[in-house]
Amino acid sequence: MNWLGDHEVSWLPGLDTGHSSRVVVTSNERSVAVTDSGAPCLFELDDALIRGLDPVLAGTLDGMTYYGVRARPIQSLTYEALRPALIQMDSRQFIPVSTAIQVLDFLEEHQYCGRCGQPTEASRSDRGLHCEPCRLTQYPRISPCVIVLITRGDDILLARAPRFVEGMYSTLAGFVEAGESAEHACHREIFEEVGVSIKQPIFQGSQSWPFKHSLMLGYRAEWKSGDIQIDGEEIVDAQWFSIDRLPKLPPKASISRGMIDAYVAERLS
Ligand SMILES: [Zn+2]
Repeated sequence: MNWLGDHEVSWLPGLDTGHSSRVVVTSNERSVAVTDSGAPCLFELDDALIRGLDPVLAGTLDGMTYYGVRARPIQSLTYEALRPALIQMDSRQFIPVSTAIQVLDFLEEHQYCGRCGQPTEASRSDRGLHCEPCRLTQYPRISPCVIVLITRGDDILLARAPRFVEGMYSTLAGFVEAGESAEHACHREIFEEVGVSIKQPIFQGSQSWPFKHSLMLGYRAEWKSGDIQIDGEEIVDAQWFSIDRLPKLPPKASISRGMIDAYVAERLS
């Protein structure tokens, strides 16, 4: 399933093959410069260089190459926190901004070798950061995270985490642990978070999600047994919702919403 439309397949991460270039401007606090309409405020590459900024390559989309820069806030610009800024962007904006943020995070957090402590330098052959003294090359970190839509006929199980905006419910998610398959993580996370058992999870699709460097692996699974039991900390409420009486849902750009909408459409067809 293609959550972000046709742009997903035309995105060329790490490649500079566009006819022109734009720079995504972010602050040290991972805020994004935006226009009045909520779109990313994009500098032309030359303009960014003239300002003394140091853009890093994100990739090319539909003939436009995108860079990202992280700098002290520029007074004439308006900045918005990353999460609310991203979720209102369309896919053409979401992909380069999300990638720029993750590349900038990687460069900032791997300035020194994790093994010997010496400064790293950009690899000449790929997107890695290389340590010459001990020959270790590190790459942008990607953390797999399962996200599961649990179904029971016309009902779906949705939950609220404390950080969610008022009234919003979403599908359950959690990181895959070292040594664990994604499917195992689905069973474990669901049981830990809401106390129910599920049947075999079925893969639906994936989405890069820069909080902080997640690869969301979307699954659908039928409820098998058990009543909802929550811990009240990670999850503050969880309920079965009928597909014709759903609560406030995550934004359209999210894989969670994509899976919910797809299931509702299937049931109604
Ligand atoms: Zn080293």
